[in-house]
Amino acid sequence: TDVSWIRNFSIIAHIDHGKSTLADRLLELTGTIGKGSHEAQMLDRLQVERERGITVKAQTATLVYNYQGIDYLLNLIDTPGHVDFSFEVSRSLAACQGVILLVDANQGVQAQTVANFFLAFSKNLTILPVMNKIDLKNADPESVGTQMKNIFEFEPKDILRISAKTGLNVESVLQSIVERIPPPKHCDITKPFRALLFDSWYDRYRGVIAVIAVIDGVIRSGDSISAKHTGKSYEIKDLGILRPNEVSLPCIQAGQVGYVVCNMRSSTEAKIGDTLFKKGLANVEEVASFRQSKPMVFAGVYPMDQSETPALRSALEKLTLNDSSVTVAKESSAALGQGWRLGFLGLLHMEVFNQRLEQEYGAEVIVTVPSVISILFKICWSLTNIRLHGEKNIKKYGATDIIVNNPAFFPDPSIIEQYFEPMVLGTIITPDIYMGPIMSLALDRRGIQVDSKNVDNSRVMMQFRFPLNEIAVDFYDALKSLSSGYASFDYEEDGFEESDIVKLHIMLNGEVVEELSTVVHTSKARKYGKEICLRLQETIPRQMFQVAIQAAVGGKVVARENVAALRKDVTAKCYGGDISRRMKLLKRQAEGKKRMKSIANIELPRDTFIKVLKR
Ligand code: GDP
Ligand code: MG
Repeated sequence: TDVSWIRNFSIIAHIDHGKSTLADRLLELTGTIGKGSHEAQMLDRLQVERERGITVKAQTATLVYNYQGIDYLLNLIDTPGHVDFSFEVSRSLAACQGVILLVDANQGVQAQTVANFFLAFSKNLTILPVMNKIDLKNADPESVGTQMKNIFEFEPKDILRISAKTGLNVESVLQSIVERIPPPKHCDITKPFRALLFDSWYDRYRGVIAVIAVIDGVIRSGDSISAKHTGKSYEIKDLGILRPNEVSLPCIQAGQVGYVVCNMRSSTEAKIGDTLFKKGLANVEEVASFRQSKPMVFAGVYPMDQSETPALRSALEKLTLNDSSVTVAKESSAALGQGWRLGFLGLLHMEVFNQRLEQEYGAEVIVTVPSVISILFKICWSLTNIRLHGEKNIKKYGATDIIVNNPAFFPDPSIIEQYFEPMVLGTIITPDIYMGPIMSLALDRRGIQVDSKNVDNSRVMMQFRFPLNEIAVDFYDALKSLSSGYASFDYEEDGFEESDIVKLHIMLNGEVVEELSTVVHTSKARKYGKEICLRLQETIPRQMFQVAIQAAVGGKVVARENVAALRKDVTAKCYGGDISRRMKLLKRQAEGKKRMKSIANIELPRDTFIKVLKR
């Protein structure tokens, strides 16, 4: 009945502010892992994560910390650290009572810091402000303290100053967790078992491992449980806590965080945010409000060769077992054959997924131009007194709306009365000298400014409402290069807005290539068409014949470029030269060819479909 010795918390921070380093240090200090553990940053297990320095999948660990003679169980709930995954951050926070808000003492408050702060704040979590990297020569704790006061109203005296790298003051973080974060609330060990499922992954040998925060009761191996949203029942095969690897225990109880293995077949069955409970229990109260993650960015994935379809299918199955936020549907394309349409939370999510597909399964795939969803109304509704804001309202009129997640299926404009596109609220923090160029960029991307505020005497925070379409692909890169890397950006979903969008057809030698076509705002069709043509011109290697690249809207050509034909045999210049050089050249050509895909009789490198969209 007593949970006063348990603390459930998360670390939230802008990318690179030291979340993983601090997590490691906390694990070390509590003896959870050995000092200087060879596995640097235990909590970022996957290769992609290490390479990109981001945590994709939330991972959790239980630490035992002795404070004033009492052993406390501190459950560190790791959250993914990027804009695309803010939805997953919010799920992880549902299992916490408090967060450590980590801010780099040199970089100061960044866009993700702001977004994460408000996420935690809106969930009424206790927020411990911590300034990291105070060991840095150019750390500026005074002005970062001012920023934290101006934006979050933290008193400078309440802000811990640490170095996760050297370990300086990290002990004070553990003490503050015990002292300032409350133990789990509304837990009752005497009630029947009830828990929040907040993460899961797929283990090749054991199947789905679900991470839960137990709210009521006790759970043991052999117990029967049900899941509220799927309505399915399971028997517990194994359970325990994460340190951060699984440690099997006879039972876990109210207030604790741990894992369960039951006979769930895929992580789509383990619905994140679902409530698990003792089988047979009636009228179970949900632990957290349940919201399905909504993919926003879609792309087709095809094998290079149709003979590789089974291998790609099995690779996709395995990967999606581990990432239930990716949606998969079969799709076929005239040019690319049979493939799949995958839905992602955002573009980074997509890139990370593709990278994993290649790294972990060695699958060479073609990824088509990503598109964001758009919503079309077939019949003109009188929407005058309905503010379209969020999916809820769209669903209400669901009988006649169509959600299009693939430009290839964009219907004939004549049957469409209205178009809606998803919107986001974007937060940018930047040194004020870049305000002008950033403003121009935002306006160019159809952004509407909603707020602007001084962070300190040299930095500003600007907020804009953007169509997701305009920022999903390359906005972040553009922002970074405009501001020499100093501006930071984060966004959250913000409903749907009526819009004037058209399909931009791309044609190669007169043949429409659906896989290169995209949906754009009317005002952008010409400019964007021109850009895509130019990029295709750069990307398409010379062929034996001239290639005409055209962009068209509703049958009208808006842009055109050519790729000139190859003049002569590439080996000609070696003619008479030594044979090994000639062989090498032919071999290189053959290798190049292997990675080409023939479309409209034109040989295209397989990354064409993704490359052309990056501005
Ligand atoms: P994350 O993206 O928030 O998980 O950040 P990481 O923990 O991966 O840290 C990003 C970089 O900052 C790494 O190169 C760390 O070594 C470095 N770093 C983290 N904490 C400190 C610190 O206290 N002092 C210094 N000098 N560097 C740090
Ligand atoms: Mg990290």
